[in-house]
Amino acid sequence: MYFDELALEKRAFINYGALEGVCKKGVTLGEIELEFHFNPARVRSVMAKVDEASIKSRQCFLCPEGIGAEQLTTDWISPATKNGYWFRVNPFPIFHKHFTISANVHTKQQIAGRYGDMLALTDVLPNYVVFYNGPKCGASAPDHFHFQAFPKGHLPVEKMISRKCGYKRVIESDKCSVYEIDSYIRGGYVIVSQYIEEMEEKFGFICDNGTIHTTIKEPDEKPVESPEWEPRMNVVSWKSEGKYTTIVFCREMSRPLCFWDEREGFRVFISPGTVEMGGLMLTSDLNTFENTTWKLLSSILEEVSLQGKEADKINILLKNHFCKI
Ligand SMILES: [Zn+2]
Repeated sequence: MYFDELALEKRAFINYGALEGVCKKGVTLGEIELEFHFNPARVRSVMAKVDEASIKSRQCFLCPEGIGAEQLTTDWISPATKNGYWFRVNPFPIFHKHFTISANVHTKQQIAGRYGDMLALTDVLPNYVVFYNGPKCGASAPDHFHFQAFPKGHLPVEKMISRKCGYKRVIESDKCSVYEIDSYIRGGYVIVSQYIEEMEEKFGFICDNGTIHTTIKEPDEKPVESPEWEPRMNVVSWKSEGKYTTIVFCREMSRPLCFWDEREGFRVFISPGTVEMGGLMLTSDLNTFENTTWKLLSSILEEVSLQGKEADKINILLKNHFCKI
């Protein structure tokens, strides 16, 4: 069964009305057509406090005790792993038909062991992109595992890839190819194959060779006893014409430094997740929307992305490992 067939009426509640008030603008920046949306209803997501103390002191909003009475839940079992998920409409949508697909147990945001579920979701959601925000990369519930999904065609990076530009080949074969985005960011790896095991192998290799951060770099990060548990990343996948496509956006920074600028009018309220890495910038702050230049938006994306020499390192490792097989 495809999830498109689910009755969406009665589920599209709360903020779908607010979507009509969203302001949008765009610019062509090299190979990509960047978009910028002002969506005041998403203030909770953009400003989410994701430090350990804040997480511990609040009710999890993905567990049954924390969801609104109007939120309906559909159970889904992944055929790939038998992991169970709760399928719900996102109460703070970016687009119509924006879903949150959360684990049916309270367990931390960690994609290891669940990438197969992501691909399985692209099978049952053929008209959607499925995405994952790492715990330090835009997830507003880093303590409860979740994917999200919304209809295909919204992300500027999808359009860029469909035009076959803005990326370069890293490895290419009949079975599976990996490209690196080399236009508006570095360190975005595009994996394409019709074979699940090939997708899993390349995805796993990129994850295994990413750096897990252990040092404190950003103003919101208080000293923690344990290091982060996976490389910083955003991931988006979809399926079309029998082939899977995944983009792994390897990340350096959790948020740009200008997010913390305390000078009046200088603070930029943008907290990049998969959607932003895919070229669609979101803010819930009018001053940010009206006064942030495209140049600054572009530099924010570069700042939070993997830096050039780290991307070069992964490219070399991929080539050395897979081109010799
Ligand atoms: Zn939970």
